Amino acid sequence: ARPTIIKGDAKDKVTFKDVAGLSEAKVEVVEFVEFLKNPEKFKNLGAKIPKGALLCGPPGTGKTLLAKAMSGEANVPFFSMSGSDFIEMFVGVGASRVRDLFSQARMNAPCIVFIDEIDAVGRARGKGGFSGGNDERENTLNQLLVEMDGFNPLTGIVVLAGTNRADILDPALLRPGRFDRQITIDKPDIKGRCEIYHVHLKPLKLADDIDEVAKRMAALTPGFAGADIANVCNEAALIAARSNKEKVTIADFEAAVERVVGGIEKKSKILT
Ligand code: ATP
Repeated sequence: ARPTIIKGDAKDKVTFKDVAGLSEAKVEVVEFVEFLKNPEKFKNLGAKIPKGALLCGPPGTGKTLLAKAMSGEANVPFFSMSGSDFIEMFVGVGASRVRDLFSQARMNAPCIVFIDEIDAVGRARGKGGFSGGNDERENTLNQLLVEMDGFNPLTGIVVLAGTNRADILDPALLRPGRFDRQITIDKPDIKGRCEIYHVHLKPLKLADDIDEVAKRMAALTPGFAGADIANVCNEAALIAARSNKEKVTIADFEAAVERVVGGIEKKSKILT
């Protein structure tokens, strides 16, 4: 398991315009972007930026996307790894992966480090889940805490973590100087869904007016997260292609919703 790295000057980089809705979350992260663009300014003023922020919300709501967009806006590299990738059967591997990730980050600062599914490593200690105690996970978590404490806030590293279970995280992670900011990312309301449809409809060749399609589909898909909406749009285009149409029609979108809902139902059965 190696971290995903996106270079600061990547051509297809993600920016805030790719992230629909989430206006409150965007406001909260702007400060980090400003800091990454110009750490010196903050240094000269004696202002200390928080080292990390937790992005909390249900799956597929755009946490990873927002973190990537922050790096795109600031033009800095993005290093990401999933919490579950740290943990292996072999003792010491998780901690050494955490060390490697941060040593790369230090060499490339200013930059963003994103840890998806932080709950996989960051569950409260002593509540060992189904395996009883889990030393390997605890070692990994301890290493993460050591790394977070180890860099100066002015180094220019912003550590973000995504989770949908902020409630089970070890309080040590949430202490000042670690992930002391929490940014909530909820599922979109109808207006948010409409905006997300706009982003994902834009590359498609539509039979109808984009505003109408977006409005209609937003009304038809309550409870959908951004990832589900991206899926609907792509499925609709695939369905249209299969019947050799030149444009994607409302009927294709409706058929796509059926499919995506089927997928969501299957997923939730596995989870419960
Ligand atoms: P997970 O908790 O499962 O890791 P996540 O919250 O990190 O999910 P992302 O990986 O950011 O979700 O979202 C998956 C995809 O869904 C994005 O790549 C994007 O295509 C789409 N998407 C999600 N939210 C939005 C949004 N607000 N605007 C536009 N697209 C979105």
